[in-house]
Amino acid sequence: MKVIEVAIAVPLKTLFMYLAPENCSPESIVGKRVKVPFGNRKVIGYAIKVTESDANFKIKEILEVIDPISVIDKKTLSLADYICKEYVCSIGQALATIIPSQMFAPKRLAKPTAPHKIVINEIVLNQYQKNASFAISQTIKNNVFKPFLLFGVTASGKTEVYLHSIAEAVNANKQAIMLIPEISLTAQFVDIVKNRFGDLVGVWHSGITNMQKYKLFYGALNGGIKIMLGARSAIFAPFKNLGLIIIDEEHEHTYKQEQKPSYDARQIGWWLAKYFNAPLVLGSATPSLETYKLALEKKIELLPMPERIDKKRLPEIQVLSLDQAKTGGSFLLSETISALSQVLQKKQQAIVLLNRRGFCPSIICKDCQTVYQCPNCSISMVYHKHPHEIRCHYCGYKKSLPIVCPHCGSSHLAVIGAGTQKVEDELQNLFPQAKIFRLDADTAKASSNYQKAYYGIKNADYDILLGTQMIAKGFDFPNVTLVCIINADTSLYLPDFKSTERTFQLIMQVAGRCGRGKNAGKVLVQTRHPENFVIKSCVNYDYQAFYDWEMENRKLLIYPPFCDIAKIAIRNTDEERAAQEAKYYFDFLQKELTEKNLKLILLGPSPAYIAKLHNTYRQHIIIKGSKTEILKLAHFAADYKKTYADTHASIEISPADLI
Ligand SMILES: [Zn+2]
Ligand SMILES: [Zn+2]
Repeated sequence: MKVIEVAIAVPLKTLFMYLAPENCSPESIVGKRVKVPFGNRKVIGYAIKVTESDANFKIKEILEVIDPISVIDKKTLSLADYICKEYVCSIGQALATIIPSQMFAPKRLAKPTAPHKIVINEIVLNQYQKNASFAISQTIKNNVFKPFLLFGVTASGKTEVYLHSIAEAVNANKQAIMLIPEISLTAQFVDIVKNRFGDLVGVWHSGITNMQKYKLFYGALNGGIKIMLGARSAIFAPFKNLGLIIIDEEHEHTYKQEQKPSYDARQIGWWLAKYFNAPLVLGSATPSLETYKLALEKKIELLPMPERIDKKRLPEIQVLSLDQAKTGGSFLLSETISALSQVLQKKQQAIVLLNRRGFCPSIICKDCQTVYQCPNCSISMVYHKHPHEIRCHYCGYKKSLPIVCPHCGSSHLAVIGAGTQKVEDELQNLFPQAKIFRLDADTAKASSNYQKAYYGIKNADYDILLGTQMIAKGFDFPNVTLVCIINADTSLYLPDFKSTERTFQLIMQVAGRCGRGKNAGKVLVQTRHPENFVIKSCVNYDYQAFYDWEMENRKLLIYPPFCDIAKIAIRNTDEERAAQEAKYYFDFLQKELTEKNLKLILLGPSPAYIAKLHNTYRQHIIIKGSKTEILKLAHFAADYKKTYADTHASIEISPADLI
């Protein structure tokens, strides 16, 4: 009897057997998505192969064949296999990551349009842009795998190099994938690519409908779409003759998926480029340490772009020592205030950044110093002015402002810390005439607000753009001549090995937002730690100095790129059971490690930085060592038998952070 083996997105390593529906040959189903009964559910699976079976149990029938044509080819299967091994998951989970299960076909699919030649337009490139474009296009023409690091300071014209390379690939009758960190924050960039390449571009991100996904997926499969532009998951565009992969702002942590399988789009890009013998272009003004290390070791070819377009100067960065005693409760130093006032007088614009990571306004009791915490999570509730309430930014819990301290009953409660709303109030009081646009996590939920900010600053409807991390990226406004960073160092001392690197990247990125037009720019960095090496390297735009210093630290403390890391998270709604289970798990790993003679370092178990989240207690075990040995242990770790059935345990390879 012929059966079809189907992969299903569950954490089981086996495939599942099904019969072909009536009047359907089993062979015709292979490579397609199918709807099948699974337990008492109906799920989407992936038909892998036809085999003979003499099973003596009842085999269920496939309910529905979803795809009109095969969507799983040889490449997809090898990629799925790679994801299973690299990120410790099942083949079904890997396939569900590559091919979204929830795409549904419209009645009729559009016919592919005839390809047309792209005219590489006449924008004159400078020597650095020429060199970079030439190196990349040679690789496309010669059909060889080669990774590049396009290391260009802000406003050095990386985009033009990307566009040239994409045109090269399309003209060579190949396809291109271009990733950007967050599509909703880069509407401007999407417009540029669409203007250049028209309907050859597909824009793929988590915000599009399943129907749109389906159209894009089939467009890429049948050749109508030649360029897939998008966030992380666009890396899986099903192109058959991929000629170029670009990953812009490669240092961004959004390229790493947090849920299982916790893949890294840069790593998938590397695999694909190798598979298709194509170039992989990683672009950044502040490359991740891992990438830059590979460039120094000549495993990645370095394409430097050390100058801004038209030899414009990088803005001068000035560090201001933030001594709260001097400011009298204000968030702005007098130097910052006078710089802002000058910019406003000259009818120029300013960007004010509040580094929110690890820093939010919260409610504190003046008598017992207790900070008001979320009842579901071990994290401070954040004070909001409009509407007047406190909210937990992790679980969404909110309540009206407390009147008394839950700990001691005192009514002497106060708000501490800066929030964007508070800073906005202060700015408005200082500069009543100024038009201020505030963009933060609360107002930017709708990407329309982001658009509003973008056009508002562009059309000079606003004088000051105030916001958190999200205003640091991408914005290109010629009239912005001042950037003020209110608190540069709040993210420096988070208990995470990447916090200094992230701080450096953030300051460099936001500094790059000014002085892009005809007037020179200036950056003011308010900090409590002006002597900190990270801050000092920023002042000189000295990536190399920062790199050398930070690599020294990582080496000393054994952190990536000197080793790899896996994070095991154990969760239980009972605090004691979470701790017990974590201990048992740790002992199990320790035993495996000794038996298999693996040279790994096990750390923990210990409560996570946020020890309680959504009423669940979280414990972490950290594994450090070589990637090969970590993967060996991780595959064994999957066999761990839980003591408490209600425990949830997950393993993440190369996590984006340890928090
Ligand atoms: Zn909460
Ligand atoms: Zn109190």
